[in-house]
Amino acid sequence: MKNMNKRDLSITADPPAKKDRSGHQPIFVIQKHDSSSLHYDFRLEIDGVLVSWAVPKGPSTDPREKRLAIMTEDHPLEYANFEGVIPDDEYGAGTVLIWDRGFYRILRTGGDDRQSIGQALDQGLLTVWLEGEKLRGGYALTRTTNRSKKDWLLIKMKDKEADARRNPVSTRSESIKTGRTIEEIAAEQISAD
Ligand code: MN
Repeated sequence: MKNMNKRDLSITADPPAKKDRSGHQPIFVIQKHDSSSLHYDFRLEIDGVLVSWAVPKGPSTDPREKRLAIMTEDHPLEYANFEGVIPDDEYGAGTVLIWDRGFYRILRTGGDDRQSIGQALDQGLLTVWLEGEKLRGGYALTRTTNRSKKDWLLIKMKDKEADARRNPVSTRSESIKTGRTIEEIAAEQISAD
């Protein structure tokens, strides 16, 4: 954790322009997933796929909160629209709710401006600006150790969107797509079967 403290996660300047050089705005999605254990799948569109982390406690808007984010396998881009029930015999069995969704852009907090997203992932530090309905502002993803390449931390950066009093994981549990709770999604699926 020593290295973490040396990294300045505050943002003083406005985030860069909305679109990347190609004019494409990549998306992010956070899917609440009631599987063998409840977690939030944080996914960023990178090179045509959804690079993904499972966040057991979900994202925080408080920069003092460090949320474990376990890197999982990439998902197809279309999966960003999925909300519903995954059958028991399939991978990820359980109920999925689209908790937040929107666009994001890469931030820079020092280092090499020309660094690609791939290099940032390799080096274990990625900072993004989210434009969602529930989450906005800068978030840092930092890998915790070199021994396990799967354990990262998701941390709210210090900017005007940071708010220690907000707790959208508990106060905004509904789907941004349908307004349903995870219990409602699960129940509706059962009655439709
Ligand atoms: Mn999941």
